Amino acid sequence: MSSGQLFDRARAVMPGGVNSPVRAFGAVGGTPPFIESASGALLHTVDGTSLIDFVASWGALMFGHADPDIVEAITTAATKGSSYGMPTRAEVELAELICELMPSIEVIRMVNSGTEATASVIRLARAAVGKPGIVKFEGCYHGHADPFLVKAGSGMATFGEPTSPGVPAATVADTHLAKFNDLDSVAAAMANGQIAAVIVEPVAGNMGCIPPVEGFLQGLRDLCDTHHALLIFDEVMTGFRVALGGAQARYEVTPDLTALGKVIAGGTPGAAYGGRRDLMRMISPDGPVYQAGTLSGNPLVTAAGLAQLRKLTMQPHLYDQMQEFGLALTHELELVATAHEVPIVIRCVGGMMGVFLGIDRANSWDDLANLDTELFGRFHTEALRQGVMLPPSAYEAWFLMESHLAMGEDIIDRLTTALTAAMASR
Ligand SMILES: *Cc1c(COP(=O)(O)O)cnc(C)c1O
Repeated sequence: MSSGQLFDRARAVMPGGVNSPVRAFGAVGGTPPFIESASGALLHTVDGTSLIDFVASWGALMFGHADPDIVEAITTAATKGSSYGMPTRAEVELAELICELMPSIEVIRMVNSGTEATASVIRLARAAVGKPGIVKFEGCYHGHADPFLVKAGSGMATFGEPTSPGVPAATVADTHLAKFNDLDSVAAAMANGQIAAVIVEPVAGNMGCIPPVEGFLQGLRDLCDTHHALLIFDEVMTGFRVALGGAQARYEVTPDLTALGKVIAGGTPGAAYGGRRDLMRMISPDGPVYQAGTLSGNPLVTAAGLAQLRKLTMQPHLYDQMQEFGLALTHELELVATAHEVPIVIRCVGGMMGVFLGIDRANSWDDLANLDTELFGRFHTEALRQGVMLPPSAYEAWFLMESHLAMGEDIIDRLTTALTAAMASR
């Protein structure tokens, strides 16, 4: 059965035929390929094609699909039982490893998704500070919990929903917006004195890939200290993707609390939040802030996460290698854009990159107003024709995996061909 036939069946029984909106390809046109299997850098579709994958499970995979070490860890764990609802040794080992690699995290709690991590961390921050307000940035995404569904980046930008019906106005009344890379806007949002926490993607990854400008993250740290508010890094995407210790290691700014997901679960449904001991001790059962989970710390998840993180600790140069490949690709794509007189901005940070077509500056959500999403749609279609799966929205980051590195020249050829075709057909 072809992808088209499966998509028809899927649409009859699932919203948009998918379990997460961007997968429906609404932003780029066409039908999403259905995946039969995947290995290394390649997705194998039910249509018999193979695609070089830059989605990488939205950033969760660092080494490629079906990495033998991770597969072995998961299968070994599965033979011992897939869930107990009781503590395990692997949970302790994963917690210890994350605390060691990310020293701002002294105590950690595992959960099942990034959404759950950020929702929980905000509850904790509000409890600890005793104020209701949070500051979030336009274009940053922190999962789909109610308090965050305001100007929340890629998925929502793609679908033109500045906020979602079903979210009571009262729930977002305490969510204050600021502009990424603009400290004055943060100071203004904090001026009411009601702010418990500032939450930020330290490298914004849900509006392409936008690194912090020099001094921005430290400025947030200082503003939080001045206002007795907590600084929360949502490193669900950047954690162990932009550097071994996450963005907080790369930019040397220490948050009070951190949300993690994606990479720490090695492509299984797991996430976590953690931070300062005095704050995390407020979490139940040590303290009064309630948060729980039937499958939290699941043995398959902890096995996969441990396997991936242990591999990363043994290959500390991977981040530089990925960025080097990203920069080589950037250079060639820029040449194509220049030849066609199309403005382009490309950013690479470790294993993440962002490609912005049609604009010449990308430091904040406002800068993306004139993003050429139509041209990106054509680039996406041409890339598929060349056998490359780019993330299906102009607002999504691209994710690098170790398995891309061995095929770097080939990838560059295919993507320059695709971009040339997309630009030539304007
Ligand atoms: C993916 C993501 C989330 C949400 O994680 P889910 O596991 O999809 O719920 C939250 N924050 C950031 C920065 C993310 O990239």
